Amino acid sequence: MAVAIRVLQRDGVERVAVIDLDVHHGNGTAFIFESDPRVFTFSMHQQHNYPMWKPRGSLDIGLADGTGDSEYLGLLKDALLEVMASAPDVLFYLAGADPYEDDQLGGLRLTCEGLRARDRLVIQQARQGRVPMAVVLAGGYARSVDDTVNIHVATIEEAKAHGHRAGERNKHGVERHVHPRVGEEQC
Ligand SMILES: [Zn+2]
Repeated sequence: MAVAIRVLQRDGVERVAVIDLDVHHGNGTAFIFESDPRVFTFSMHQQHNYPMWKPRGSLDIGLADGTGDSEYLGLLKDALLEVMASAPDVLFYLAGADPYEDDQLGGLRLTCEGLRARDRLVIQQARQGRVPMAVVLAGGYARSVDDTVNIHVATIEEAKAHGHRAGERNKHGVERHVHPRVGEEQC
């Protein structure tokens, strides 16, 4: 992702923001762009988890063990406003599946529905701000591999459902209406 950002910068993109919602701190991104004011790095993660030493990003929110959906989503809403206030030309979203309550390496307590709501918030925020966004899948170590897969699939479903303006047409002239079907809310 850092390489992609460097390429975009080379090609004239001025400001980039990274929204890193993996359960682990976005240490690599923070380290690489620490002294680059053109890249806003936001990470929301479990504080007591790898890595022990967390380089400083533009906005870091270290969550307590066991943080659940409502607290997480509330903090995310406010943080996204700060991200957007950095006036990015492009957004990168790391949609980690490991804040999930049944993850083996994570200690947060987000449900599948909470993770889907998280994705929707991020994607809608980007859309409202008319900022193009690349979505990157990240960590996921659920006891059931199916859960990890389904969480990633939900991210893609949300991107397809909300990643375009109403009535917008793709290059084939076909309006896209993709919405998650009832019953797909479970992992
Ligand atoms: Zn992770």
